Amino acid sequence: KSFEDVGVWPDIARIMYMENMHKPSVVQCDVIPILLREPAPNVVVQAQTGTGKTWAFFVNILQRTNFELEAVQSIVLVPTRELARQIVQVMVKFCSNFAAVGAVSPQAKSISEFGVAVAVPELIARDELCDCHCVVGTPGTVLDLLRRKRINTEHLKCLVVDEADNMLNSQGLGDQSLRVRKAIQNIENVQVALFSATYAENLHNYVNIFCPDAQLMKL
Ligand code: AMP
Repeated sequence: KSFEDVGVWPDIARIMYMENMHKPSVVQCDVIPILLREPAPNVVVQAQTGTGKTWAFFVNILQRTNFELEAVQSIVLVPTRELARQIVQVMVKFCSNFAAVGAVSPQAKSISEFGVAVAVPELIARDELCDCHCVVGTPGTVLDLLRRKRINTEHLKCLVVDEADNMLNSQGLGDQSLRVRKAIQNIENVQVALFSATYAENLHNYVNIFCPDAQLMKL
């Protein structure tokens, strides 16, 4: 299968090829078409790190973002600030490549305007709104931003939880992520996508609260 076969836009697929990703990984083949479905389903994916899960949720975010709209449309929760920085680096690099290559297409033009912010303390100190399309941060920082109304969640479409098992193994992060979930529960049609390398009983209990209606994919 090609990236296009699993629903990746041709302009995005072209960049994947340039980044030496010649075809979708097994996890991407299974997960991308489901994430992209309409109406957007909630999904819990059990997949090891190194299987290409980050690109799976990144493609979903890119293809669901209305770049004309200057509003936060997705939030990615991760267990550490280091991981948040890594994910944002990849996103920014990819988006700038995209603009360079596909500058003629309207999609590429809009994606060149893709704004990504990592929720770091400096951002909170500045008394500003998070005016980007996608926020990547740890649950505590994102919760703080939400409580201080620095993130306008009115246009939120997608909430991703990455490394959910590590989240639950870190003091307080599981609870904080549940509070983030609660803070956005009144927004309609927010897709939840949760990724975890393992699926133990505590994760099962967590999923029952976080997204009880999610489709479970063990890969
Ligand atoms: P992840 O599972 O998201 O941590 O990804 C692990 C690594 O696999 C990253 O360095 C990605 O750049 C790489 N990768 C992701 N998707 C593909 C693909 N389809 N083909 C080759 N490498 C990939």
